[in-house]
Amino acid sequence: MYNINIAIDGPAGAGKSTAAKEIASRLGLKYIDTGAMYRALTWKGILKGINFDQSREIESLTSNTVINVEKGAGGSNLLYLDDIDVTAEIRDPAVNRKVSLVAKNSRVRDMMVSQQQEIASNGGVVMDGRDIGTNVLPGADFKFFITASLEERAKRRYLELKEQGHSTNLEEVQKDISLRDKIDTERELAPLVAAEDAILIDTTHLSVEEVIGKMVKHVKACIQAGSI
Ligand code: C5P
Repeated sequence: MYNINIAIDGPAGAGKSTAAKEIASRLGLKYIDTGAMYRALTWKGILKGINFDQSREIESLTSNTVINVEKGAGGSNLLYLDDIDVTAEIRDPAVNRKVSLVAKNSRVRDMMVSQQQEIASNGGVVMDGRDIGTNVLPGADFKFFITASLEERAKRRYLELKEQGHSTNLEEVQKDISLRDKIDTERELAPLVAAEDAILIDTTHLSVEEVIGKMVKHVKACIQAGSI
């Protein structure tokens, strides 16, 4: 068990959450999926039937909303929205289509970032997202930025959604993640970008085990060398 914070950022479907969850488990750290928090708020907007083109309506979602991240089976996260378990609902393709609009709102980001910083304040977390190394935990002990080609990311996400029982097709998934990447990269606040001091890993031709192995090896080597 180490008292370190690890930030993992990158575009949709690059394999961040799979790696983050496994690294947390191998190093005895807590895994926090920050994308799931934005998704939970987006799900609330869908339930309420808000107009996602209106920032005021998006902002209204932040009032009287409580989002909790708990540890679930196999080290994954359980997401609670106002005390209701929405872990499955937040993976709905309808959420994919709206979440980046919610995430570019400044009031939403303020709410999420302060909660995420609070969760990490005592150390011991692996947090994945888009702005963890640059904005949420700029002082993180380790920062990784994980990418893969758009085609590979779409393929992985498609297989994941199919396994979860969602009806979708590869073309639709690719369109969806490339639009999300565009909004996430071009937004004014905390855009998706690698921190200057992040280690870049392109996972296009790597297996999950190769990615995780590289990251864990680096962290352990730095700890052993006393460089953190
Ligand atoms: O990681 P995931 O694909 O579940 O994230 C969903 C969306 O949440 C992203 O496309 C992005 O718009 C937003 N997000 C963010 N900042 C984070 C994590 C996610 O803006 N730290």
